Amino acid sequence: MVNSAPFTAVDKPVRNSGATSLEGLWRRMLERLAEGVSEDITADDASQIVARLRPLELTSTDLRLEAPNQLVLVCVTDHYLPRLREAVAAVVGSRHVALELPSRNQGELFVDLPRRRLDHRAAYSELNSKYTFANFVVGASNQFAHAASKAVASQPGDHYNPLFIYGGVGLGKTHLANAIGHQIQEKQPALKIGYLSSKTFIDNLIGSLRHDRMGEFKQRFRRVDVLILDDVQLLAGRERTQEEFFHTFNTLYELRRQMVLTSDKVPKDIPDLEERLRNRFEWGLIADIQPPDVETRVAILEKKADLERIPLDHDVALFIAGHIDSNVRALEGSLTRLGAYASLHRLPITVDLAREVLQAGTARGRAIGFSDVVAAVCDHFSVRPGDVHSKKRSKNIAMPRQLAMYLCRRLLGASFPQVGEAFARDHSTVIHAVTVTERRLKEDAALRATVERLERTLRGQ
Ligand code: ADP
Ligand code: MG
Repeated sequence: MVNSAPFTAVDKPVRNSGATSLEGLWRRMLERLAEGVSEDITADDASQIVARLRPLELTSTDLRLEAPNQLVLVCVTDHYLPRLREAVAAVVGSRHVALELPSRNQGELFVDLPRRRLDHRAAYSELNSKYTFANFVVGASNQFAHAASKAVASQPGDHYNPLFIYGGVGLGKTHLANAIGHQIQEKQPALKIGYLSSKTFIDNLIGSLRHDRMGEFKQRFRRVDVLILDDVQLLAGRERTQEEFFHTFNTLYELRRQMVLTSDKVPKDIPDLEERLRNRFEWGLIADIQPPDVETRVAILEKKADLERIPLDHDVALFIAGHIDSNVRALEGSLTRLGAYASLHRLPITVDLAREVLQAGTARGRAIGFSDVVAAVCDHFSVRPGDVHSKKRSKNIAMPRQLAMYLCRRLLGASFPQVGEAFARDHSTVIHAVTVTERRLKEDAALRATVERLERTLRGQ
């Protein structure tokens, strides 16, 4: 493969057009990378991690790649960059490899493809990959909303338009809305799906008005095949947004494009909602989600434990489900905290331990502990508490683990040896983790924002 003529003479940037498609070159670079892997990096790692990058542009000096998120970016930078550079050099000649995160400019969050994007599926990235039908537990409380969502996902536009899902906080509205998006994306990949929160819709509108780009805004939202708008109660009192959404709604409705709306209230209870919009929200099907009964709560806990590989006996699940009945998010939060606590202290998860941890969790103004920090970090980066505590060195775990150590120092005022003990590491590893994290924070605004958010959450602000 070294014989492939390097594109050293390229003076026009190569994008995804024509015979020299950048995608094609990128595929060859990935193959090259997989050939060159050594014992410490498996071909699997390489294909799973590096392949998540997306080539944006190749010029005579640079190859610009986009990472889907911070974790992938850090992981590639820390572990694969030298090999990646070699693979790039072998295929197109030596280039500066520049890694970027998706810019969060208005519009790019949504369906309309930034022209430089190569794969239109990238635009769906706001869908949360965890929120699928397979991961959704059906019980009496959500059966109807679930069935309606399934019907809409299998034949968008044909059944209920709009599908309006409503229910209290943390009961699974966003989960179902995402599940619909995933299923349509999987079964009918040609359809353009717009999934976004109403807040994003509002922000986009404000941005477009300010920059005099309303034409683009209208186009963007009226060209989708499926529009999923989360939390429409946020449109309350926003006249201009409501007016714009009214027109979007009409256009999509006439074209028989599926719309899915979620809200924490039924249309008639959303304050300051224009009558004509309220009226349209009621045109299709209104499906409610109620708080889950105890059997469903147990089933949700067991499913979640299974997904997170937290060993959870049925009697412990029953205990937690008996004590937490507010909402599913709270239920999940207790399980994560319990899992983190047990793994940090190397204790089996018993009813007694659950009682202790849950009580600590509800005592007002209590001090936060190691397990809270680990739980928050794990939750954010979608890794398992057990992995953070494990000896695993795999790259996608090392960064959250180091961050958790850093936060324990900062928030708990723990000494290096204390943090080391909590993570079953010696104190020099903790010093290293803190130093590395401080460096990353200096260089990386997105990570700084994440840490600030985590700190706020942990401090209960
Ligand atoms: P809402 O949008 O109604 O506030 P979410 O959809 O964000 O709530 O749900 C909160 C959390 O609870 C999510 O992590 C979600 O996956 C989980 N959840 C809610 N209902 C279920 C369910 N029936 N099965 C599995 N997980 C659920
Ligand atoms: Mg929600």
